[in-house]
This record gives sequence, structure tokens and C-alpha cells, in this order.
Amino acid sequence: MSWIDPDFPRTATLTPLVGRVLGLNPGMMTGPGTNTYLIGRRDPVLLDTGAGVPDYVPLLERYLKERGWSQPARVVLTHRHRDHLGGVDQLRERYRGLRVGKLIYRDAGLPEDIEDIRDGQVIEADGATLVAVHTPGHASDHLCYYLAEEKAVFTGDVVLGGSTTVIPAEDGDLADYMRSLRRLQSLDVRRIYPAHGPVIEDAQGRLAEYVEHRLMRERQILKALADGLTTIPRMVERIYAEVPVSLHAMAGQSVASHLKKLAREGRLREHPIADAPSRWELL
Ligand SMILES: [Zn+2]
Repeated sequence: MSWIDPDFPRTATLTPLVGRVLGLNPGMMTGPGTNTYLIGRRDPVLLDTGAGVPDYVPLLERYLKERGWSQPARVVLTHRHRDHLGGVDQLRERYRGLRVGKLIYRDAGLPEDIEDIRDGQVIEADGATLVAVHTPGHASDHLCYYLAEEKAVFTGDVVLGGSTTVIPAEDGDLADYMRSLRRLQSLDVRRIYPAHGPVIEDAQGRLAEYVEHRLMRERQILKALADGLTTIPRMVERIYAEVPVSLHAMAGQSVASHLKKLAREGRLREHPIADAPSRWELL
């Protein structure tokens, strides 16, 4: 389960068009930390900014210098979670007037002067063309960015290198998430640059695994219900029997996202119970 790799390189030149600088925020949810990417041959576009860890900016500067670059031309963000946009303020302190963009959707409390990036919008870098792809599910405002020159996609938190994605109860939506995976499958994509963990070279294989993983969970949940396990804690006990109990709350969120999806499809009904977990009924 642990995917915090202490030997994960802090900076890397992955291809002539893509450099990577680590956000230096390792953890259970972030793995080795958030990957930030520099895209283009010169005046690179910076994709995501990490969590705002003080050591990040000096690390970024050192890498820019190594490549003979002075600063990022602009910043594009995958989504609003802190470990992706938390570095915006410190970057703007260092680089006055730095342009920052994201899909603005159900947002509150964003940093000032964030430009809106829409689905399908093209972002030109030097020798590289990024196309924004709206991919809600992990977060409603999530954008992936397709890099045509490499048939690659920057997947943010939709696909990760080393873990499955959390579908948060509040802003997440598993049905949206499945549609987003299918949308990524429909692209001519070979390589994935995830927001956490190493590059994935077999993009289609990993996307298929991600879809299959969710379908398997759905089957397990339907089976548990059919066997009379009608509450989330009981289902988690069975389905995540091999996972440490300390992670069962997170597993419960995942089960809840499946139940919500199945209920919306008219296959289940929720019976809320005061001061106790809801009972779920197969229809
Ligand atoms: Zn996220």
C-alpha cells in the first residue's frame, strides 16, 4: 500500500519536451509528493505547483537554471486540491505577474487572478501543444492535458503511478470518474504523466486496469449486499479484509461512492438510520 518512495528523483528530464520537479510533499495521499511538470523546449509551461512547501521554489529554480531557462512562461493547474495549487502564491512572489489558469468550476477561495481554462482549450508552449480535457470524478473541476507531440496525457489525480484514486464524498462522483476514464481511453494516448508517482508507458493498459478495478469493486459490493451485508462498515470488513484497519475509513469513502452511483442508476435504495450507518437495499 505504501507508495512513498524516498528515492524518487527530485528533478528529472523525462523527454526533450517534459521536465519534472517534485513538490517535496510526500505522504500517504501524495506518494513521493506532487509532480510538477515543465513542458516545452523554451519558456516552459509549468503544470501544477505542489503544496506550497518552502523548499520547492529553490528546487524549481535550480532545475530551470540547469536547463538554461529563466522562469516558467505560465502555470496551468489540473484541479483545486491544495497539493496542486498550494504553490501558486509563493511562485507569484518569486515571479511577479505569473499567469495562472485552471478550469473555474464550483470554486471558492481561489488565489486572485486565476484565468479560466475551458474544455478543449489549446495551450501553446514552445514546440508543444497542450489540449485541456475536462475529466471530473476525483474533483469536479479536474482538467487533464493532452500533449499531442508525444501522444501523452498529464492525468493529474485521475490516474496515478502507484495507487488508485480517491473519489471524495463531497466533490467526487464515481459515475463522472468512469466517464472520464473512458474519455481518456478514447484519446490517441500512449504515455501517462501522473500527478503522483512515475511515468506510465502503457497508457491504454493502465486505463483498462483502472476501469476493471472499479467494475470489480462494484461486483464485490453487489455480492456483499446480496449476502446480507447492508451497511458500509460491514461491506468494508469483507471487501477490504486484507487492508489495515487504519485505512478502512478511506475504503468506506470508496464504497460510499459506488453505492451512490448504483443508487442513482436505480439499482439500490438507501435507508438512513438515526445515529447509525445507512442500510442499503438491492432493488
Ligand atoms: Zn486531488
